[in-house]
Amino acid sequence: DKPQIGVVGMAVMGKNLALNIESRGYTVAIYNRTGSKTEKVVSDHPEKHLVPSYTIEDFVNSLEKPRRIMMMVKAGKPTDAVIAELLPHLDKGDVLIDGGNTFFEDTMRRNAELDNSGINFIGTGVSGGELGALEGPSMMPGGQKEAYDLVAPIFEKMAAKAEDGAPCVTYIGPNGAGHYVKMIHNGIEYGDEELIDESYNLLRNMVGLSVDEIADIFSEWNKGELDSYLIDITADILTRKDDLGSDKPIVDLIMDKGGNKGTGKWSSQNALELGVPQSLITESVYARYISVLKDERVAASKVLPKPEGKVSFDKDEVIEKIRQALYFSKIMSYAQGFEQMKVAAKHYDWDLQFGEIAKIWRAGCIIRARFLQNITDAFDKDPELDNLLLDDYFKDIAKKYQESVRDIVGLAVKAGVPIPGFASAISYYDSYRSAVLPANLLQAQRDYFGAHTYERVDREGTYHFPWYEEQ
Ligand code: NDP
Repeated sequence: DKPQIGVVGMAVMGKNLALNIESRGYTVAIYNRTGSKTEKVVSDHPEKHLVPSYTIEDFVNSLEKPRRIMMMVKAGKPTDAVIAELLPHLDKGDVLIDGGNTFFEDTMRRNAELDNSGINFIGTGVSGGELGALEGPSMMPGGQKEAYDLVAPIFEKMAAKAEDGAPCVTYIGPNGAGHYVKMIHNGIEYGDEELIDESYNLLRNMVGLSVDEIADIFSEWNKGELDSYLIDITADILTRKDDLGSDKPIVDLIMDKGGNKGTGKWSSQNALELGVPQSLITESVYARYISVLKDERVAASKVLPKPEGKVSFDKDEVIEKIRQALYFSKIMSYAQGFEQMKVAAKHYDWDLQFGEIAKIWRAGCIIRARFLQNITDAFDKDPELDNLLLDDYFKDIAKKYQESVRDIVGLAVKAGVPIPGFASAISYYDSYRSAVLPANLLQAQRDYFGAHTYERVDREGTYHFPWYEEQ
């Protein structure tokens, strides 16, 4: 049997995806620029139906036609380099798939360029890390629909399965739509992580709990509406002790400088481009940036005063309020992320199915969570829903929890514990539900210094006020 699909790139993701596909009954061709890695994969898994090649030409020729080739290489220039190497050996109708964390505009460009040569190009988001790649990731493919149909049976088998058995993959839309949705997924992931980290910080530094006590709280929270992968691993992380000998919790020994690979930043940049309010993800990106200024922060901590007063609260009550603030803020973040996708769908001419997107995030990916079912239900009820907050379920949560968020934000500010995520969540909520915002004054200012004109609330048309005339 000729391999039905080939994978280029035998680093951790490509290797695990190849093994995953093989485990679903396929023969998989494999190739890596550095041949020793390909050799190692084969020698580590002699019983698997893997067909190694050591030149691009042999690799391409080993495949069943139309060829399906999945690239799992470094995003950016390396991906262009691999495409350029593959291209002379491909035929019209072949399907090239990029599973890397590629910027969606690169995917739009590559899709258009390759389309001219008759080669189909799918850019697919793959989420779930290395374990997800091996056991079943959540996948967000975009590209020519006919091309997706050629790989759909394989993708559906290799993807994670939600509780109801549905595979966590669906055709997202043309050209860069898949990588766009993956970018939003990653932005939302930044937001979820920030909110969890703020909750931990409040429990630790405002409530004064121990790491072990906080681990128990997260475990407890994971049994309710916050049930999710990220809460689950947080509870686990907090139970772990130093692996190098001391009996301290490992979190206390990990340097507080947040890394990033740029996907959260892309979401924020795109939100600014499209004019979408996406404050929570952006605050999460900034939270990582300020964390990196460790030396400055340490120096500042010695000279800038903290609040003088002490905050007082009932311990059990405040813990529950932090839980409510976390869930409320998470909802604001998703409302913003889905709003951004709605605007993007119009802007890039994609017919995004928001309920389907929430469905494929239910398992396999890093943001998998029980509450994604509520998002699916909301869009099933009303596919044209303007904002998640207007759905009955989310409206009800906002109504029940908003006072807790206000209490927690107030206490945190008073205690001097930074809560950029929580604060932006409640500000977004208050802005979104305000029939009148002070942008009337803003428009007056703009008209005053720049004659930018304004509209009026009481009559049609565009106006300019005679600011420089006496009244
Ligand atoms: P890396 O991102 O570390 O990429 C290494 C692979 O890229 C190797 O196979 C390497 O080949 C190849 N490569 C690099 N430069 C070139 C080049 N110029 N020409 C040909 N091949 C090149 O590997 P990962 O497995 O971590 O990730 C693969 C992709 O999947 C990336 O785009 C990543 O962003 C994405 N991804 C990663 C996730 C993760 O959790 N790691 C999760 C989801 C997506 P060689 O061995 O010869 O150097």
